[in-house]
Amino acid sequence: MKVCKFGGSSVADAAQMLKVLEIVRSDPRRRVVVVSAPGKRRKGDDKVTDLLISCAADALAGRDPAENVGRVVARYESIRADLGLDEALVEGVRAELLRRLAGPRDHEGAFFDAVKALGEEESARFCAAAFTARGLRSVYVDPREAGMLMSDEFGAAQLLPESYARIRAKLAPVPEVVVFPGFYGYTRSGRLATFSRGGSDITGAILAAALGADVYENFTDVDAVYPVDPRLCPEAVGGEGIREMTYAEMRELSYAGFAVFHEEAVLPAIRAKIPINIRNTNRPDEPGTMVLPTRSSVPGRVNGIASTGGFGALFVEKWLMNREVGYVAKLLGILASEGVSIECMPAGVDSVTVVFRDAQFPDDVRERVFARIDAELSPDRVSYTRGIAFLVAVGEGMRTTVGTCLHVVSALSKAGINLQMINQGSSELSIMFGIREEDLQPAVRALYAEFFGKENK
Ligand code: ASP
Repeated sequence: MKVCKFGGSSVADAAQMLKVLEIVRSDPRRRVVVVSAPGKRRKGDDKVTDLLISCAADALAGRDPAENVGRVVARYESIRADLGLDEALVEGVRAELLRRLAGPRDHEGAFFDAVKALGEEESARFCAAAFTARGLRSVYVDPREAGMLMSDEFGAAQLLPESYARIRAKLAPVPEVVVFPGFYGYTRSGRLATFSRGGSDITGAILAAALGADVYENFTDVDAVYPVDPRLCPEAVGGEGIREMTYAEMRELSYAGFAVFHEEAVLPAIRAKIPINIRNTNRPDEPGTMVLPTRSSVPGRVNGIASTGGFGALFVEKWLMNREVGYVAKLLGILASEGVSIECMPAGVDSVTVVFRDAQFPDDVRERVFARIDAELSPDRVSYTRGIAFLVAVGEGMRTTVGTCLHVVSALSKAGINLQMINQGSSELSIMFGIREEDLQPAVRALYAEFFGKENK
């Protein structure tokens, strides 16, 4: 069986919800459907979750929330009218929203969660009603009834592990298609608690794991995950997406700002070794991207290239550094005491470079760190360089191939890009290349052409 999750753009209006219906109907293995709240219908439009947060903020600040309440109700009314559903559904939205806005305020986070989760709940109720009206036997299931127990960290709650068995016991026997709201569950004391923003992905992954699904389908509005960031390399949009990647490749790619999804969001599915299929609601015939525990990799093949700027490099040189036991440990200790978290550390015989996000190193921190390095480590030379970007070439096939690095380096050199650092992780799944931030776009485009461009097909 398949668990499918549909994001905000997939349920943004009636037409989108009907696409969801057709997708679910077209494959009888699609037994569980998790939905987000209606998202943006076009650029500049509102997301229902944001409108709900504004309602809650109005109420807490003593402002009249009527205008924002009206906007939320209007979104559902237009969906209702276009789908020809019962008017009572929209009256239900208004009444429930007002009830929650008048609810307990002893805990601000709990108050916000109760209000902002209504978007998912109503989205699921509307989808179940629309599916049933069009002949697909489906039923709305409430997370409380399903036994989704959450920690009481409101706004960023976590699922309590005993929930898995409860969810399975509740959902597995349901004969209809289950329509389930994403994003929230209930604490032991019965209060609604949400995951962090974007948390419907987590709900989908949890249900897939609980039910031992054959695949977790995550429907969004892109055909596939692109091998490079399309904002830096627009030509990637017209090209092929990544067909398959492993969990480990996804982790390496998303580490450097790659737009897959938040690995933490799909961790429950990964732990249960359930394949994840990223697909497009608007183009359901596209196979999308499969994220798998393992795959048969093509030797030498780079599967994707992540790219991100905003790094700085601290360089420390000391003649005969390699003979001084604990030198690097002391340096890292100084950085740790300032709360600087480190990305990588290319080292030479007498020098070491520590790379971290530049935002962690404002002038006052830098001055303190430099003063301590001078006093405690007596270096020959210390410098700090901002404006560093990283390209990370990722591919399982690199492990078994000699020369991938050469391939990248020669493509960059042809494009006239100066390499400042190279770092191959011990996983041999990725190689990081440090360049200047201003070279990021030309570098990504050069590597896209080299590894994924038309002449490579
Ligand atoms: N609607 C929620 C949000 O906007 C959760 C989700 O869509 O995943 O964050």
